[in-house]
Amino acid sequence: MPHPSPDMSPEAFRAAGHRVVDWIADYLADPRRYPIQPDRKPGELIDALPSHAPEQGEPIEAILRDFESLIVPASTLWNHPQFYSFFSVSSSGPGILAEALIAALNMNGMLWKSSPAVTELEQVTLNWLREWLGLPESNFGIIHDTASNSTLHAILAARHAAQPAQRAEGAQPGYVLYCSEHAHSSVEKGALALGVGEAYVRKIATDAEFRMKPDALQEAIDADRAAGLHPFCVVATVGTTSMTSVDPVPAIAAICERENLWLHIDAAYGGHAGLVPEYRHYLDGCDRADSFVINPHKWLFTPIDCSVLYTRRPEVFREALAMTPAYLRSNYDPRQVNFMDFRIPLGSRFRALKLWFVMRYFGRDHIVGIIRSHIQMAQHLAAEIASDERFEIAAPTTMSLVCFRLKGSDEANEKLLAAMQASGAGFFSQTVLHGRLVIRWAIGNIHTTEEDLQRSWQVVRSLVP
Ligand code: PLP
Repeated sequence: MPHPSPDMSPEAFRAAGHRVVDWIADYLADPRRYPIQPDRKPGELIDALPSHAPEQGEPIEAILRDFESLIVPASTLWNHPQFYSFFSVSSSGPGILAEALIAALNMNGMLWKSSPAVTELEQVTLNWLREWLGLPESNFGIIHDTASNSTLHAILAARHAAQPAQRAEGAQPGYVLYCSEHAHSSVEKGALALGVGEAYVRKIATDAEFRMKPDALQEAIDADRAAGLHPFCVVATVGTTSMTSVDPVPAIAAICERENLWLHIDAAYGGHAGLVPEYRHYLDGCDRADSFVINPHKWLFTPIDCSVLYTRRPEVFREALAMTPAYLRSNYDPRQVNFMDFRIPLGSRFRALKLWFVMRYFGRDHIVGIIRSHIQMAQHLAAEIASDERFEIAAPTTMSLVCFRLKGSDEANEKLLAAMQASGAGFFSQTVLHGRLVIRWAIGNIHTTEEDLQRSWQVVRSLVP
C-alpha cells in the first residue's frame, strides 16, 4: 500500500491541473470579455477574504472558485489586449507553460552544483539573445528579476571599478553618476541604495526630442572634476519610460571612453525594437557599453519576471561580490559558472526556462514580426490622432508608445483620461512633458490588433465634445 501523499495526490493534481489549464486557455482565447480594470474600492478584497488562515485545508474547488469570483474581478489585467498603460507587457502560451514547469522542478540556481540546468540553460539562452541583439561575444549575461535590480548591480560594479577599496572600506562620498532627466527612477534609486547620495546623481538636460545632450554631459563631468569630485558612471537609455526617446549612445560612449567612465545602457523596454532590422540603429553604440539591461518580460512575451543584464566586464562584478561560505564550496572546473558570484542574491529562479521556451517556440522571425507590427500599429494610431484637430502628438513615436494630449489645459486632459479609464476603452497612463500632462498609449500585448486600437480610439474620440 503506498503511503498517502502529504502533498496533493497525483490524481487530484491532474484533475485540478486540467481545470487550471482550461481556465488559462479560455482566458487567452477571449480576454476581451473581462474588464481590464477592477471596479473595486481600496480594501474591498481584504474585507471579502477571511482574516485568518484556515486550520484545516480546503478543497481546491473552493480555492479556484474564489480565484474566479474574488481575485480576478479585483485584478488589473496586464495580460489583456487593451492594456495600454505603463509599458504594455505580455506573457504568452509557451512562457506560461514554462512557468508551471519551473514551479514543478522548483530549482534554485545558486551555483552550478545546485542545478547544472539552471546555470547552463541561462548561459545558452542568453548567448542566443545576445546574438539576436548584436552584442559582442565577450558579453556575459545573467538574469535578474527586474531592471531595477540589474541596474543596481551595474552601478555597484561601476563604482567598484572606480573605487575598488569600497569592498574593504565601504563607499566613499563624491562619486558622481550621470543620466538624463528622463532616465527611469530605478537609476537614481539604485544609486541611493548603494550610498551614492542624491547630491551626486546628475540629471543631464535633453534636446527637443528628449534625448540626453552629450555637450551637457561633458560640461557636467568637467565641472565635477574641477570641483574635486569623481565621475564614475553614465547611464544612457534606449527607450525612455515616458516617451521612448533614445539617447545618442555613440556620442555618450565616446565621452565615457575618453573620461574612463562606466557606461550602462538601460534598454529594458526599447532594446527589443533593435531586434527589428529597420530599428537596429537604436542599438548603435551599445556594443561599447560596459553593461546593458533588457527585460524580456517587457516586450519579449516572457511572463514577469525576467530581466537580462549583459556585461563585458564580468570580472568586476565578481571582484565586487563573490563570497563563498563553506557550505557553498565546490570543486573548481573552468567550465563551471556560479552565478551567485556575480550578484547580491544567492539564489535565483529558473527564469531561463521560460525565455528559452519563448525563443524556441516563436523563433526570431515571428518575434520580429510581432514587435514590428506593434511599432506599425503605434505609427498608424499616431497618424490617426494627429489627423484629428482636437488632439496633438506630444513626442515622436519612435517605438510602440503614442504620447498625445487634447489641445487645451491639463485639467481638460485629466478629465479626458479619467473618462477614458472609466469608459472601458482600455487602461492608459500619463506623464508630464514640457510641464504639460500627456496621455500615454502603449502597445505591447501579443494579442493586440488594429481592431482593438480602432475600437478604443473611437471611444476616446467620442469622449471629447
Ligand atoms: N527602465 C525603464 C526604461 C523602464 O521603463 C522601467 C519600467 O518600466 C524600468 C527600468 C524598471 O523596470 P523593472 O520594473 O523591471 O525594475
